[in-house]
Amino acid sequence: MAYDLLITGGMVVDGSGFSRYRADVAVKNGVIVEIGRVRGAAARTIDADGLVVAPGIIDLHTHYDAQPFWDRLCTSSVWHGVTTSLMGNCGLTLAPLRPEHREAMLATFCCVEDLPVRSLSAVLPWTWQTFDEYLKAIDIGLGMNLMPLVGHNPLRLSAMDKAAWDRPATPDEIAVMQRLLRESIEAGAWGWSTTDSPTHAGPHGEPVPTRLADDEERIALGRTLGELNRGVIEILPKGAGAPTDADHAHLTDVARASGRPVFFLTFDAAPRPRVEAATREGVQLYALLRAIPFNPRFTLKKTTFFSNLDVWDVVMAKSLDERLAAFTDPAKRAELREWADQRQRRRPGVPGRFIKWASIVVKKTAMAKNRALEGQALTELAAAQGKHVADAMLDLALEEGLDTEFELQSRPPAEDVALAEFVRTGHAIPSQSDAGAHLNTNFCTAGESSWVLAEWVRERQLLTLEDAIRRYTFQPARIVGLRDRGLIAVGMAADLMVFDPATIGVKEDEISRDGPSGTPRRVQRAIGVHQVVVGGEVVMDAGEHTGALPGRVLRAGRAHEVSAR
Ligand SMILES: [Zn+2]
Repeated sequence: MAYDLLITGGMVVDGSGFSRYRADVAVKNGVIVEIGRVRGAAARTIDADGLVVAPGIIDLHTHYDAQPFWDRLCTSSVWHGVTTSLMGNCGLTLAPLRPEHREAMLATFCCVEDLPVRSLSAVLPWTWQTFDEYLKAIDIGLGMNLMPLVGHNPLRLSAMDKAAWDRPATPDEIAVMQRLLRESIEAGAWGWSTTDSPTHAGPHGEPVPTRLADDEERIALGRTLGELNRGVIEILPKGAGAPTDADHAHLTDVARASGRPVFFLTFDAAPRPRVEAATREGVQLYALLRAIPFNPRFTLKKTTFFSNLDVWDVVMAKSLDERLAAFTDPAKRAELREWADQRQRRRPGVPGRFIKWASIVVKKTAMAKNRALEGQALTELAAAQGKHVADAMLDLALEEGLDTEFELQSRPPAEDVALAEFVRTGHAIPSQSDAGAHLNTNFCTAGESSWVLAEWVRERQLLTLEDAIRRYTFQPARIVGLRDRGLIAVGMAADLMVFDPATIGVKEDEISRDGPSGTPRRVQRAIGVHQVVVGGEVVMDAGEHTGALPGRVLRAGRAHEVSAR
């Protein structure tokens, strides 16, 4: 057989940003070997007539660190055509770590990323201490390729022990961190990650260790990458929603000292002028935006929306009759009010652990007489009625037999224009899916690329198809130094996705019961993704897993001999 796989008649959008063209793509031994009008037999042929053939998506912000131990396929990402993801973000990784720090690190990871700590701890084998041992432990045949970063938190714990939770590091401790970082990079880490975000706290509200670091510590770790001339840096700044001048100066300092690409997370286009200024100076600074909004809708009839809010979760789990009784019981009402407020005070800013009442609007009323309330924020409604916000919501819902539809709005759609413009400058990448995290919460944004292809490309024409694909393939590959992926070209690894541009999109989130140890988790499925190919093997076919697990842990600085399999 001339080829292992032949994809015929598709529209090739090759990742370079240049124009699409119709061509066949032939694969042999995991590598793209011919493009154009290909003759010759293949073990498997995919008819891509009317479909787009693109490089697999490279997702720059995921938290799949523990997922291989309970889901080797790495869903939800692989459903959307993600074939490689950068993991170990936000300073939260499970290596290098001595046994005495495992429990605290896992608890912190689970708390920040909303993962079920008990069921995860039951499936983690903890067979590693060094970064190299960890990479071996997760390289067990996966649905996609993983590119691990090493987290600043385990480096701190290893170098400082308990003091990591209390204070900045001494020069000696920084030197230990630099040595551990060097070892991890030499083992194949793609860089390091850190967080300074006030929302990142451990199970008792304590700041994660990296938040105790001073600027000099991060600059020193940046210098280590500079010496190795390898790796990227991911920083969640103090003001993740709106990076301050001080944040920006620090990001630029780290980028300057290291000479390496620095990614920082943001949710809007405000940092654009400062990023452009830094770039003009030759500093490699990139904003990772979250393009996909998380706007969950819910009624009080059946929702997981309050499952993270104590007392509310118990009431919401009751039968409908019991729930109605609880909502009308004045004593229970007082408790619900109290918990709504108390949780916010106690755990300020931990995503998913409180309810952002001001962002919840009445989406759709069941009764005609309440129509005027549609579009109103619950806080406005409460103010107008002189009630507590919880009462305003519950009274309306009770009047309508719990059929009122509410929506949590993370962003008004008009803001997308500025976000897409920022992306078009090349300094921002819409890649903040957070896949692998937030299994417990009421949103999932793992399908970010599918959402962008649907909303920004097809529906609103804010990006061209070629440009959007480039942002998810060649651009991230080039920045992180992944040389054999991110383009459809002869000699590149055959990581591909075949999709229908007319239908691609995300389905409404679902709860599936296949989380760690069978716990429930939130997933987001794709629409319009026909095939996902990793290393030349079809992993997803018409939404179904073929059983293939060809994904590997990619180690930086090694040739990824794509035909090695
Ligand atoms: Zn993150």
